[in-house]
Amino acid sequence: MKFSELGLSKELLTATERANYSNPYPIQIQAIPALIKGRDLLGIAPTGSGKTAAYILPILQFLQKNPGTKHRAVPVLVLVPTRELAAQVAEVADNFSRFLSRKVKTLAVYGGVSINPQMQKLIGTDILVATPGRLLDLLSQNALQLNQVEILVLDEMDKVLNMGFREEIDQILAELPKKRQNILFSATMEETLEEMIASLLNEPIKVSVEPETIDADLIEQYAYRISAERKGPFLRYLVNSGDWTQILIFVSSIRTADNVVTKLNKNGIDAIAFHGDKSQGARTEALAKFKSGKTRILVATDLAGRGIDIKFLPLVINYELPRSPKDYVHRIGRTGRAGATGEAISLITEEDLHHFKIIQKKMGKHVQLRSTDEMEF
Ligand code: AMP
Repeated sequence: MKFSELGLSKELLTATERANYSNPYPIQIQAIPALIKGRDLLGIAPTGSGKTAAYILPILQFLQKNPGTKHRAVPVLVLVPTRELAAQVAEVADNFSRFLSRKVKTLAVYGGVSINPQMQKLIGTDILVATPGRLLDLLSQNALQLNQVEILVLDEMDKVLNMGFREEIDQILAELPKKRQNILFSATMEETLEEMIASLLNEPIKVSVEPETIDADLIEQYAYRISAERKGPFLRYLVNSGDWTQILIFVSSIRTADNVVTKLNKNGIDAIAFHGDKSQGARTEALAKFKSGKTRILVATDLAGRGIDIKFLPLVINYELPRSPKDYVHRIGRTGRAGATGEAISLITEEDLHHFKIIQKKMGKHVQLRSTDEMEF
């Protein structure tokens, strides 16, 4: 199946080409034609499935025929659970919009940053991507109207509900006009969702893809026995020895993330930290620098272990092990994606030995432990 068979305009086909999307992903094949026809949609699909483009492309196509607004009445609203996802969705929309003759304005709004600049930028917005709390703040300040929304997207709805945003969602829904197109995505089908689906979606087309399976066989895993004092020098030796274009280093605390970055920088190695103690702006910037290859090394807490998508990441280093075996698999799963091979290296101290055995047992895979005693660094 080709993108040209899905009913997308010429301009949008160019946009997919320029984004190096050679063929549509299964979720896109299923969703795009139905969404172009204006159908409601229920999508069961996790991050990494290509769900963002599956709804953004039809939305952009819709907006090409829509005059837009010069005011504060947005035609398209996308609700998301987190700031990270808000920024990612807006980035996808902006990337595709560059190739369109009718310019589409996308704005991401979320908490944790000041509200005033967001209020000013709202005028003329076509696609508003928002977290529920900040959207309600903006509504209470009369910064926008939702009574002309024509397309509503609820993305990662399971997460939205698990984060306790049900009431906020109901308040937002009450502001919307009755007639509109509804698109709901969730990684899993949960009971809590059923009532919402029944009341919100009108004869939806249902599409689903399997959750991301991390193929541990595509990832070469190594572990090195090392004392806590020698971890720093060994890490520098590792990052200097290979020709990995990008390295994601995981640590278990914010303090360690900052310390590791400081040490690497002191030794002339470019690296940045990514964790929950950084401002939203700093997090977005760190991720953008890493994704674009401007900075080779990102040192992160498990905040980066889930969801964030970095293509072709060749190496993940566990400077410290995560507590949960699940997180271990998520961490190493940042490499070896989409069929590409990757490497994962774990640094194991005496105290980690038992825990590392448990991780291997849960993962169902043995990882050979190498000694660093004879190594010079
Ligand atoms: P998502 O599930 O929307 O977060 O998308 C996951 C990743 O897949 C993103 O990095 C997209 O840029 C990429 N992607 C989505 N659709 C395609 C496609 N048809 N071809 C290649 N990459 C894609």
